[in-house]
Amino acid sequence: MKIKKVVVIGSGTMGSGIAAHLCNANIPVTLLDLKTEISEQARDKIYKSKPPLLLDKSKINNIKVGNIVDNFKEVSEADWVVEAVVERIDIKHNIYEKIFKERKKGAIVSSNTSSIPIKVLSQNLSEQEKKDFCITHFFNPVRYMGLLEIVKNENNDIEKINSLKNFCEVELGKGAIVCNDTPGFLGNRIGVYAMQVAMTEAFKMKLSVEEADAIFGRPMGIPKTGIFGLYDLIGIDLMADVLKSFIKELPETDKFHEVAKEISLVKKLIETGYTGRKGKGGFYRVNKTDGKKIMETLNLESGEYFPSKKINVNSEKVNLKALINRDDKYGQYAWSVISKIIKYASSLVPNITKEFNDIDEAMRLGFNWNKGPFEMLEEIGVKNFFDKVDEYKGNDFLNNLAKTKNEKFYGERQKYTEIETLGKVKKKAKSIDGNNSAQIYRFKDYNIVEFTTKANALDYDSMDALKKATDKPLIIINESMQFSAGVNLSYTMEFADKNDFKSIEKFIKYFQETCKHLKYSRHPVISAPSGLTLGGGFEVMVQSNFVASHTNIVVGLVETIVGLIPAGGGCKEMLARWLDTEEAKKDPHYASLKVFDIIGYGKTATSPVEAEPMKYLKAEDKKIMNRNSLLEVSKKILLDNKNFKAPDELKFNLPGKVVQTEMNKIIEKLYNDRVILDHGVEVAKELAYVLSGGDTTIDKTLSEDYLFKLELEAFMKLIETKKTQERIKHTLATGKPLIN
Ligand code: NAD
Repeated sequence: MKIKKVVVIGSGTMGSGIAAHLCNANIPVTLLDLKTEISEQARDKIYKSKPPLLLDKSKINNIKVGNIVDNFKEVSEADWVVEAVVERIDIKHNIYEKIFKERKKGAIVSSNTSSIPIKVLSQNLSEQEKKDFCITHFFNPVRYMGLLEIVKNENNDIEKINSLKNFCEVELGKGAIVCNDTPGFLGNRIGVYAMQVAMTEAFKMKLSVEEADAIFGRPMGIPKTGIFGLYDLIGIDLMADVLKSFIKELPETDKFHEVAKEISLVKKLIETGYTGRKGKGGFYRVNKTDGKKIMETLNLESGEYFPSKKINVNSEKVNLKALINRDDKYGQYAWSVISKIIKYASSLVPNITKEFNDIDEAMRLGFNWNKGPFEMLEEIGVKNFFDKVDEYKGNDFLNNLAKTKNEKFYGERQKYTEIETLGKVKKKAKSIDGNNSAQIYRFKDYNIVEFTTKANALDYDSMDALKKATDKPLIIINESMQFSAGVNLSYTMEFADKNDFKSIEKFIKYFQETCKHLKYSRHPVISAPSGLTLGGGFEVMVQSNFVASHTNIVVGLVETIVGLIPAGGGCKEMLARWLDTEEAKKDPHYASLKVFDIIGYGKTATSPVEAEPMKYLKAEDKKIMNRNSLLEVSKKILLDNKNFKAPDELKFNLPGKVVQTEMNKIIEKLYNDRVILDHGVEVAKELAYVLSGGDTTIDKTLSEDYLFKLELEAFMKLIETKKTQERIKHTLATGKPLIN
């Protein structure tokens, strides 16, 4: 069965997210709601969404909108009808009756329900209708969340379910996990339990909101939003509804009930409109005093707000063993939370799924955890776990493991997909080298470098690993949220604070040397980015020989925002790309001016479709919807380039002073319009100097090394200024740019 046309019914958060993502896959989709105005508004919201639900604004043309009375005929043309209306069974039953009367014979009908069992949803369907009915549970926001849970009923045509799974994997890029019909399926059952444990234990142990979030976050390999931050993000009132539904659905013996009891402070927050970010605030709020915005946090005992405190738990890297063995309240909290999550998740196997590792993958894809509960158990170590754990009565999984004490119980990863993923390959590969910032794996006849720092920020060690790994064909890829957010600015500032500019210079030179090495070494180098690919991260990518990019990337050169210019070859490569255009052949100023505009504003693209016109990506770079496939595609590139020869070195002819004069006029106008201030002028002038080729004329041919030198000199000049240092410090502290 081929899916060529889809109808989505219900144009709320989920319906519009699903429709937008179908547009991304170029599948014509019709979005229906009670009234056309509602679905029209939904379409507008999709168009303007931030972060964008669409890969490119033009994708909106794949969507048609309408209402369920006048436009219901659309259903008869669809190969798949997705129901995403409000979570009310009477409304859903009504809709199914209409759909099954209208649908094309054999078309799939699915519900996006998050809590209603398929047994209940399908109770009025005939045996024949049940064959084509299932649950497809997407996560919000649909474009960005990797998880799709598919729930079958006992009558399903398995071939059809498999082809739907395949469509969702290949065309929509989802990690599609088929699971049993149990409340909350996999992701939410464990995810919401984990949130509740993290919250109730924080109350019990009298941790502050900031303390709990500092632990139930990065140190545990969980997004830094933490627990209370996540509550605010989801909506405290919505979480209360979710809990109610679990309490109703789960048997009294289920441990979920222990952590789902109403907390009076939470009840009061909801009643007074403190429902989180969408309301007046929640566990955190932004308060304005004397015209200044101040972040405040709720005191869990008094219920009053106080200015937020930064908690430093001295845990830069995820190290669960060290974390749970800490001899302080943070260690106790971490152990209590982690051990309860492991106990709960394992107690549900095989009832919610027979593959325990599907639970881990659901937590990665649906909640962005680095590792799920079973991998946490593996990391802590089976013996260590059992030495520390109290009781686990009636838990067959743990009882068995306690007997075998098999440290290697985990086995394969990502069993839910046929794709040979990085997760699977890493388990089979040899870890051949590594340092604090990156790991090198050898698999068959190629190497993999995986960056391992926070946001995969780059430093000397990252470069060292890259350089070492070029003794074989190399794939630069990772499993975390970002490919690389760029050079580690804290690392750079540590030197600057000590006036040790020599060390910064040494690092940048090494960065350049490594990138050059990536580009011209004997073996091909492939970058497979997903997520942030900014600054230095982009420079690594752009100087790889091939690129296999995920469709969810944010790519660009953003150095000017912190008062610097790209100095790892970013200016050089962008110039080369823009010089290689028809326009540049006619107009010698064209390339310098174009790149000046792009880098000067620190422009970013939020998808490959947006990246191509800026030349951050090339037409021939591979663009892939399913992140799981990045490694396979990269390997295919290696296979197709068995006779790889390193490219010839680039040569540049740049106009020098004449184009600088033009750039200076632009800078002057921006300054007069107060778009940039004094230091903005400094930065722009340095950039202009580099992009014009420095002290040159169009007839002189410049080498790559010369351009590297220009980049380095400008970078060093800027990093030594107080104002650039102020910009960096400000951005590190607030995440926002400083205009000075
Ligand atoms: P929502 O409230 O944002 O949107 C529901 C939409 O359905 C509204 O636009 C409403 O006008 C429309 N609607 C109501 N009755 C209708 C009818 N008879 N015919 C056509 N349209 C009708 O809800 P949502 O958050 O998008 O949730 C939709 C479904 O997805 C629910 O089953 C929910 O449980 C599930 N879900 C939600 C999330 C989430 O994060 N919001 C995540 C996963 C699953």
